[in-house]
Amino acid sequence: MTSIPARIRAQIDDLLAVAPVDIDQVATRLGLAIYERSLPEGVSGMIERSPTYETESGFVIFVDDGEAYVRQRFTAAHEIGHYVLHRDRIGEGVTENYLLRSDRLSNWVEVQANRFAADLLMPLPLIEALTKQGYTSVPELAHKLQVSEIAMGIRLGHPT
Ligand SMILES: [Zn+2]
Repeated sequence: MTSIPARIRAQIDDLLAVAPVDIDQVATRLGLAIYERSLPEGVSGMIERSPTYETESGFVIFVDDGEAYVRQRFTAAHEIGHYVLHRDRIGEGVTENYLLRSDRLSNWVEVQANRFAADLLMPLPLIEALTKQGYTSVPELAHKLQVSEIAMGIRLGHPT
């Protein structure tokens, strides 16, 4: 079971079938935008309501440009999860530390956003398709999907 709601999945289904999942396109389809930026020490990402970027949703996502690309992708996907699942709780926005915990949201809400991010970046049907093509190891799949090997290992249920 995926944590991505059916109405959202319908908007991005084709993007979930191609590796690596194009996270910028996902954001665009959902009326968001992702920007890399130098964020304060210890901050990995944020989502905030801002008119400046003229997004359809009114929200924009920032990820720290000092972090590894695969981490930026996961952070962006986590923020998209907050937008999709927790819009009523994020108010004008949230800021996340390096563990992707916001200053204002509960642990359970953060767990949900992480699950959403995993479902977005590592869709199980896509993993299955890649496996059939011969990409079977954690490093190979992590590379194809542009996620960290740790995230990929967790996704495949390997002990960490
Ligand atoms: Zn969060």
